[in-house]
Amino acid sequence: MANIVHTEIRESIDRLVENRNIRALFKTWETLRNNDPERLPSYDRFAPSHEPGMSDQLMVLVPGGDDFHYRFYGRGIATQAGFDMTGKSTADFDSEVGRWFQSKYRDALALGRPIYTAHNALHASAIVSWERLILPVEGPEGAPWIVCYNEPLDSKSDLYDGILAASLDGIALFRPRFEKDRLVDLDIVAVNRSAVEIVGRPEAELVGHSLREIVPDLKGFEVYERVWTTGKGERFESEQPMLGKTLNVSVGRAAGKLIVTFADITEIREAQAQLEHQHNELLYTNETLREQAGMLVDLAEDKSRAESEARRAGRFVEQLLEAVPLPLFYRLRDGCLGLVNSSYAALYGRMPDEITGHPLAELLPRDLVARIDAMDETLYSAPDTVQTYETDLSFPHAQDRRFVMNKAAIRGDTDAVTGVLGTLVDVTERHHLAQELERLATTDPLTGLFNRRVLLSRASEMVERVRRYDREASIVMLDIDHFKAINDELGHDIGDQVLIRLAEVVRGTLRKAGDLVARVGGEEFAILLPETGIKGAMVLAERLRVAIEESEVATPAGPRRITASFGVATINGGDTSVDTAMKRADEALYQAKEAGRNRVTRAAA
Ligand code: GH3
Ligand code: MG
Ligand code: MG
Repeated sequence: MANIVHTEIRESIDRLVENRNIRALFKTWETLRNNDPERLPSYDRFAPSHEPGMSDQLMVLVPGGDDFHYRFYGRGIATQAGFDMTGKSTADFDSEVGRWFQSKYRDALALGRPIYTAHNALHASAIVSWERLILPVEGPEGAPWIVCYNEPLDSKSDLYDGILAASLDGIALFRPRFEKDRLVDLDIVAVNRSAVEIVGRPEAELVGHSLREIVPDLKGFEVYERVWTTGKGERFESEQPMLGKTLNVSVGRAAGKLIVTFADITEIREAQAQLEHQHNELLYTNETLREQAGMLVDLAEDKSRAESEARRAGRFVEQLLEAVPLPLFYRLRDGCLGLVNSSYAALYGRMPDEITGHPLAELLPRDLVARIDAMDETLYSAPDTVQTYETDLSFPHAQDRRFVMNKAAIRGDTDAVTGVLGTLVDVTERHHLAQELERLATTDPLTGLFNRRVLLSRASEMVERVRRYDREASIVMLDIDHFKAINDELGHDIGDQVLIRLAEVVRGTLRKAGDLVARVGGEEFAILLPETGIKGAMVLAERLRVAIEESEVATPAGPRRITASFGVATINGGDTSVDTAMKRADEALYQAKEAGRNRVTRAAA
């Protein structure tokens, strides 16, 4: 039943139903019933003759046996339904809906209440559905009759209009135009609102005109021909350059006409194209990204390789620095230490990282840093040289040391000088040794005075100066008197003590820094006196003689006094070597001995 009846109302019909006639009839029935609740309202009041305005839509049914007889069947109903039941009974209407209405009529009579229904039309007609008010009434002589008001609820044409109007698709109805049995054009019979909107022209410019008129460069007309010939609907997509649109068109044949529906899918197609474009772009982007990712991976690998190489290089440099058993530093141009090894840091009593990055001025006394800066500047001004020099330095943990510095300027990537790389070789011990050797080579070990070799070389220089610059210089020869006797009496060791003491006395008596005393033989001494003439030399020799004579020498046998004899000679322009001058002094000394010792003798000019 559900497919026949879609509505059945028994209460509040006047509130729920829109149809005016139905509402009016219901109200009349209700009023009459309220006025006389004992009886059904009278048929007379609802008879077609009483309601001429509604009579076309009225039916009057009279129960007879199991069926109801149509006593009246409105003309309107007959026309709309497509058949006339006048004089017939519900039995002639042998269908489910007929039987169902029969039961409704009975219900209405049994309840003594009106029933409203809406039901689908059964027969092929213009009517889609009906609405019906079933009124139980009292017929002649109290017989229960039924009066029905019947009106189409929906007509098919109404529905079509509605569908056309509501459709978002354009719908156009074409009547074919033939020439010699051939379809040549299509005349537009009707268009809906969407068609007008899609085509962009008012209905008046479309309806009554032909398709070729409206679309002069119409393409694909064969589709219309085919649909017309075969009767089989077709669907296709059509670009409309004039409209600037893409249409999805379907063509069907019905009732001697072609029905064309078309949807504007421009935006969809554009969106699709855009999507496709985006998709392609995404593909491209993906590819690019993949390539870039690959490059990044390569770069990362290069970078990590470079880093590990740099680390290796860095470690190598570190190990190299540490492997060098010398203090090694790299001092940046700004004066800070850039890199040092442990040996260098040890000079400060620190670890490398404790002094790296610190300016030298923070670590060493100012005057020392000034000295180093000056040396570094010299190197910066001639950066392609190597600087090597020996210098005395004091570091916090290496005081008073002598170093050989080896320094070279270092160039960075841009070839600019970035700093100074240097090593320090601690040559303190060697230096001391060399000093000692030098001392030993030039000094008399017993007295600490210069030896004969030094005297001869200095005397030669003096001779040279006198000859070349016409300067004065003298030489004094000294020999202890009767020294053999001292040795014999007190022993050789005491003799040595006497020699040491004599050396002190002589040294103490000489005042001028340039004077040089040397032990030239066992107990013979020579004194060189630069810038001193014969007079001065005689005075000095006499002073020495007195000093020796007056000095006491402590011995195990008590204090002893000694004397010495002197020969004095002046170096003159005629002396070509030191020998001649010394020979003269020796001769003078010999004369002093001869003359009785403890005296000073002047050599002959
Ligand atoms: P004079 O010069 O007054 O004529 O008498 P002299 O006894 O000093 O004689 P001479 O100068 O010829 O003798 C040198 C002596 O000095 C010989 C040696 O015994 C002693 N003599 C030389 N060298 C040393 C030395 O290094 N140590 C000691 N203790 N004696 C030395
Ligand atoms: Mg002698
Ligand atoms: Mg002597």
